[in-house]
This record gives sequence, structure tokens and C-alpha cells, in this order.
Amino acid sequence: MSINQPNVVVIGSINMDMVTKSNRFPKKGETITGQSFHQLPGGKGANQAVAVARLGAKVTMVGAVGDDSTGQAMIKKLNEEQIDTSYVQILKKNTTGMAQITVSEQDNQIIIVPGANHALTREHIDAAKEVIQSADIVVLQLEIPLDIVEYAAELASAVGGKVILNPAPAPSAPLSKKLLQNISYVTPNETELAEMTGQTNVELGMNELLLNESVPTVIVTLGSEGVGFKQKEDLLTRYVKGQHVEVLDTTGAGDTFNGALSYCLAQGIELAQSIEFANAAAGLSVTKFGAQSGMPTLTEVKETMA
Ligand code: ADP
Repeated sequence: MSINQPNVVVIGSINMDMVTKSNRFPKKGETITGQSFHQLPGGKGANQAVAVARLGAKVTMVGAVGDDSTGQAMIKKLNEEQIDTSYVQILKKNTTGMAQITVSEQDNQIIIVPGANHALTREHIDAAKEVIQSADIVVLQLEIPLDIVEYAAELASAVGGKVILNPAPAPSAPLSKKLLQNISYVTPNETELAEMTGQTNVELGMNELLLNESVPTVIVTLGSEGVGFKQKEDLLTRYVKGQHVEVLDTTGAGDTFNGALSYCLAQGIELAQSIEFANAAAGLSVTKFGAQSGMPTLTEVKETMA
């Protein structure tokens, strides 16, 4: 580890995506033959950990898998990306998180079984307290129990640590003050912002989080349009335009964005510059298939920004 290597802790979900491709969906009670099947490592937590690690940060993943072969495979995969999995719990009587995804020519259907992700406890977070409190930045999403997200944010901010919350998947109700008061950066996409604030207007949604919830910085990802961001200190909305790229697969764009953003913020890089970098990294990720497989290296991001 080099002296300046940023130290990032990601606390979140680890899932295996089981992707079946079929010409159409089966009718009720029908069995049909599909075209292909792939198992792809995923989960927003693991995806974001891989995104940061690929850029060269020291990454510790805090999470849980089941005591099964999928769990072992997920840990192996994280280790191959040089991610420290000492705080990934292997929980007996639980299955590893799974997303069953069926893709047809017209549409897709997804069933997520959280399994071990939802069996994370405060004790599991406490076991990682030291690494959480010494991290340059802690990254959270919403695929583990909300009270655990709240607890982890509280632990990190108790020592003045920086915390990024990517409120994905979209919360079904506004998030608690208890959580938001411990967040330094919140990074919803447009749908998540609307769900969190009840505002479909991006400006009003951002203001709601900055003024009523006192989150210091709101960063809204806008898909191909790029990113809008605003800070409590000056309330001026700034935009970074999306990259003009040939889009192949947007899965994991938000995860790449959050990983790359935390990579920069962990090093104390200025906000606008950090967002430019994350926008470039996410723009690259959509030019390749798969969530984790499309995540760029530091050299690749620097090349597109040059
Ligand atoms: P999510 O994947 O969480 O829904 P977005 O769709 O907003 O989030 O994408 C996250 C970021 O990925 C965007 O802010 C942008 O930087 C990049 N991105 C996504 N889609 C495109 C696209 N079609 N072209 C260029 N960049 C994209």
C-alpha cells in the first residue's frame, strides 16, 4: 500500500445476479426454454467496492454472504479485485443475496432475495468499528437493513468521518433525520431524489435535502445528461455534462459513479473536480457490458479526461 493510497470502506450488499435471457416471458403456469444463463457478481455494495478498488484505492468491504458456494465465489471475486473481505461475515442458515433477472426482448423482470444482506447486525458493524472510524470515506447504499445503515453512518460521523450515502434502491419513504444528519454527501438519481423528497423537480428536491434535512452536499445523477450538484454553503446548482459515448449497457453506471466519487473525495480532491472524474468513469462504464466488468481503471479514466 502506498502512503497516499486512499482508504475507503464500503458497507453494503453482496448479491449474485442470475441472468436468464429468453425471447419472451412464460405465461402463467407455462415452462419455456430460454436462450442463455449467466451468473454475474453484483449487489450495490460489492459493485461500488469493485469500482473504487479498480481505480487503485485500498478498499475494505463490510457485509455478509451465506454459508454456501455462491458466498465463497463472491468473496473470491472481491479478493481478486484486492478488496479486503475480513469484515464480510459468512452467516450460517442464510443464503447469499441473489437477484433473479429475466431479460426478454421487450422487458425484464427481477426478483431479489436479500438473504444474508438482511441478516447484518450492529455487532457485525461493531466488529469493523476501527476500520470504519479510520477510513478516509465510508460509502453506504440501501440494500442492507436501514437501521444498520443508520448505525454505520453514526459510527463514522462520530469521529468526523466523511460519509457518502447512495440512496439506492429508491427508499419507499423519506429517510430519517437520524440518518441524514450523519451524511456528508447524498447521491440519488432522479427517481431516488423524487422518492426521498416527494419533489419531482430536481431543484426543489435538492433544496429539500439541503435546507430541510441539512445534508451539506447533494449530487444528483441524471443519466446521459450527467450530474447536477449543490452545496448548502452557496445553494448554486452546478452541472457536469454527460460524456458523449456509445451506450452498450447502463447497468452499474450509478455504482461506478459512486465508487469513483469516493475515490476522489477520500483524497480530499475538490468537489467539482471529483464529480468530473466520477462522471467520466461512469460514462466509460456504459460503453461495456455488465456492472463490474465495465468498471474502468485509473489509466482508462485519465485517458478519457486528457
Ligand atoms: P443509476 O445508474 O443509479 O440509475 P444514472 O442513470 O443517473 O444512475 O447514471 C449515473 C451516471 O452514469 C450519470 O450521472 C453519468 O455520469 C453516467 N451515465 C449514465 N448513463 C449515461 C449515458 N447514457 N451516457 C453517458 N453517461 C451516462
